[in-house]
Amino acid sequence: MKAVIAGGGIGGLNAALCFHAFGWDVEICEQAAEIGEIGAGLQISPNGMKVLRALDIDKQVEAAGFRPRAIQLRMGKMESGQGRGRLLRKPPSSQPIFTVSTTDYEEKFGAPYLHIHRADLVAILKAALEERTSVSIRTGVSIRTGATVTGYGQNEDGAWALLADGTRVAGDIVVGADGIRSAMRAQMVGAQEPVFTGNTAWRAVVPVEKLGRNAPLPVSTIWLGEGKHAVTYLLRGGKLANFVGVVERDDWHNESWTEEGSRDDALADFAGWHPTITTLLEQADAHYRWALFDRPPLGKWVDGRAVLLGDACHPMLPFMAQGAVQAIEDGYVLARYLAEKDDYPAALSAYFTARVERTARVQAAARTNMGLFHQRSGAGKLATYGPMWLADKIKPDLANQRLAWLYGHDVTAGI
Ligand SMILES: Cc1cc2nc3c(=O)[nH]c(=O)nc-3n(C[C@H](O)[C@H](O)[C@H](O)COP(=O)(O)OP(=O)(O)OC[C@H]3O[C@@H](n4cnc5c(N)ncnc54)[C@H](O)[C@@H]3O)c2cc1C
Repeated sequence: MKAVIAGGGIGGLNAALCFHAFGWDVEICEQAAEIGEIGAGLQISPNGMKVLRALDIDKQVEAAGFRPRAIQLRMGKMESGQGRGRLLRKPPSSQPIFTVSTTDYEEKFGAPYLHIHRADLVAILKAALEERTSVSIRTGVSIRTGATVTGYGQNEDGAWALLADGTRVAGDIVVGADGIRSAMRAQMVGAQEPVFTGNTAWRAVVPVEKLGRNAPLPVSTIWLGEGKHAVTYLLRGGKLANFVGVVERDDWHNESWTEEGSRDDALADFAGWHPTITTLLEQADAHYRWALFDRPPLGKWVDGRAVLLGDACHPMLPFMAQGAVQAIEDGYVLARYLAEKDDYPAALSAYFTARVERTARVQAAARTNMGLFHQRSGAGKLATYGPMWLADKIKPDLANQRLAWLYGHDVTAGI
C-alpha cells in the first residue's frame, strides 16, 4: 500500500504521518527545494490537537508553541478617555467586548488550544516522519523536493503523480495536498476562478523583547475596527509576537504570501490603534502583505484513485483560524478509511462524504466572521458587538458552547 502525496506543507506532512500510522508507504513530492514554511504563526484548536496527540507529537508541539490563557475580542482603536479635568479623565483605551478562558479547554473539548510558529510545526512533522521511518521495518516515507506535480494518472491497478520533468511517481493512490493553487484540483475539476474579497492581509512576527510593555498579553486577541481587524498572539513560549491585520482595500491583488509591503503603509492602516498593534508594526523588520481571495466549497474531491485534502479542496478565509486544522483532520480521516477498506476508490469516496459538510460549514463560518469583525456604523457595532458584550457579562461560556461543534469534534474517536 503506497500513497503518493503532492505537496509537503502542513496538510501533506501530517497526512504522511497518518498514512504511516496506518501501515502505508508514502512518497511526498514537494515543489520547493526544501521542506519549510513562512515565518508566521498558526493557531491550533483542540480538534487539531487531538490528531497531533493521536500521532504522538502533541508534546513536541506544546513544547515549541505557546498555550494562551484566553481568546479575547476588543476594539482596536484607542478611544480618548472621558471625564472632566486631567486628573479625573480615564486614560485612552480600547473597549474589551468579551474574553473566553482557554485554560479549561482540555476538560471542555478534550485538548488544549495552542499557538505555534508554522516553521516549528513543519519541522516537528518532518522530524517525526524521519524518525519513524528510520526505525520502522513495516513502512517507508520518502520526500522528493524540487518535484513539481503537474497532474495525475491512473488505471485499475494504481495511480501516479506526473512531475514537471516527465517522471511518474507511482502508488496505489495519489493525494493532492498541493494547496490553494492545486495542480491536481485543476485537473480534477478544471480551473476555478477565485473571488477577491476586497481584503488585504498584513503579517509580521517580532521578538517580544523589542516590544517592552506593549507586548501582547498571553491571550489571543482579535482587535476590531471599521473595515479592518487585527489578530495578535504569542509564539515560542512567549518569546515571539505574531501579528495579522486584515484591511478592506482593493489596491493589492497579489495572493503570494512572500511579497513585502512597507512599514509606513502598515502603520497608516492601523493609525490610532492600541499601542500593542502600533508598537508591533513599528518594531517589525518585515511587513508582508497579500490579497485575500475566496473560493466556494468544491463538490468533488475524488476521481477514482486521486483525492484532494486541505487548501486544495476547501481553502478558507483565515477568520476561523481553521485552514491547517481542517487539513490535519482530513489526513487522519483519509488514512483511517483507507486502512478499513480494500477498495481504495470506495474509501476515498467515504472520506469525501465524511468531510465535505464539516469543512463547508467552517468555510461558511469564516466568511461570516469577515463581516462581523469589520462593522463600520454605530448601529452595526451596537447590533453585533452589543449582544457579545452582554453575553460576556451574563453567560460567559456562550462562545464556547457555540464552538463545541468545531473544537469538541474528535476525528480520532472513530468513523
Ligand atoms: C493570514 C492567515 C492566517 C491563518 N491562520 C491559521 C490558523 O491560525 N490556524 C489554521 O489552522 N489555519 C490558518 N490558516 C490557514 C492555513 O495556513 C492553511 O489552510 C494551511 O496552510 C493549508 O495547508 P495545506 O498543506 O493544505 O496547503 P499549503 O500550506 O499551501 O501547502 C501546500 C504545499 O504544496 C506545495 N505545492 C504546491 N503546488 C505544488 C505542486 N504543483 N507540486 C508539488 N508541490 C506543490 C507547496 O509548496 C506547499 O509546500 C491561515 C491562513 C492565513 C492566510
